Amino acid sequence: MREPDPVALLKDLISVRSPTGEEDEVRAMIEEFLRDHGVPYEVDDFGNVLAGTRGGLLLNAHMDTVPGGEGWRITEPYDPRIVSGRVYGRGAADCKGGLAAALVAVVRAHEEGIPLSLLATVGEESPREEDNGTLHACREGLDAAAAVVCEPTDGHVNVGDRGRVTLEVRITGESAHASKPQEGRNPIEAAADAVEAISSMDTERLEVPGVGEVKSDVTVTGIEAGGPSNVIPHECTLTVDYRTVPGETPEDVRKAVEKEVVKSVDGEYDVEVRVKSASRATVVDTDSFIVKAARRAARAAGLPGGLRFKMGHCDIDYLVHEAGLDAVILGPKGGNIHGPDEWVSVESVRRCAEAYLKCAKIMFPTPVSTGR
Ligand SMILES: [Zn+2]
Repeated sequence: MREPDPVALLKDLISVRSPTGEEDEVRAMIEEFLRDHGVPYEVDDFGNVLAGTRGGLLLNAHMDTVPGGEGWRITEPYDPRIVSGRVYGRGAADCKGGLAAALVAVVRAHEEGIPLSLLATVGEESPREEDNGTLHACREGLDAAAAVVCEPTDGHVNVGDRGRVTLEVRITGESAHASKPQEGRNPIEAAADAVEAISSMDTERLEVPGVGEVKSDVTVTGIEAGGPSNVIPHECTLTVDYRTVPGETPEDVRKAVEKEVVKSVDGEYDVEVRVKSASRATVVDTDSFIVKAARRAARAAGLPGGLRFKMGHCDIDYLVHEAGLDAVILGPKGGNIHGPDEWVSVESVRRCAEAYLKCAKIMFPTPVSTGR
């Protein structure tokens, strides 16, 4: 059997379009790769692939990407190209680099009798939590001792991530003819003050051992108001994106934003703040075995292996909170994620394949029967 090459596989994976909801073709490619290398797998009713030997270390990577998008210079989104040690293409870093490394690690683990499995999922880039393949698989039940999420981390071991709460702030004033603004109360003027107040909010801070201080962030990402140009509108709605640290609940941040907005509009307007969607922040114990094993494995494979914390939200949330696993995030070095000319480092993809296998070997030094 030929040795699988993670970089050749990565180029193949990039060349197949797989925006969220259209993962069929890339999944077929993954199934063929697994069959070619004799690795047992199954596809669940949601469209996720579960491959390799259960009960040990579980790798998790998503098969979907954001759309190709505009403005590419180095290459086109689905025409992978290697330039100066980087593979360019949509999904190179998020998350096909980690996915290719994980697939190769699972093939090698199967050959060596190491309990390493891969959950390759659909729907990770969807804004709707009910589309998330990892969440679905976690609710169905996963047979694993610990997990590594293969999202790009520059070869560092991330011990958690921030949560995300989307809020809707509705400010109600009083409509009037625009020629007599003094007869109404303009909610857009109130919203201007509210945006200012939200942007300068003093957010929560958390000390993560070994990592340092992690802070939450809040920013206004949408504003909606207005009808005919000669009418002061009745209401103005803001969309607020709040990134939480572990321990902050959606209700905590809803109340905090409400308090700031109410204060900023001076009681002259009605304010209503509601939670539109929420996902949790996660932190795992930095003394846990998976953290130590992943750091050792990363360093042994030539990756930096430092302790970090992920600022965006990812599937570690579900692995920890739904499946009850200890988990970390460890993946290759990349950039321009979700933008044009997304790239991943060739070297770091190869090293991640080594690190994932090594991590399973550290956790399970004695080979098991993989039915070969
Ligand atoms: Zn991702």
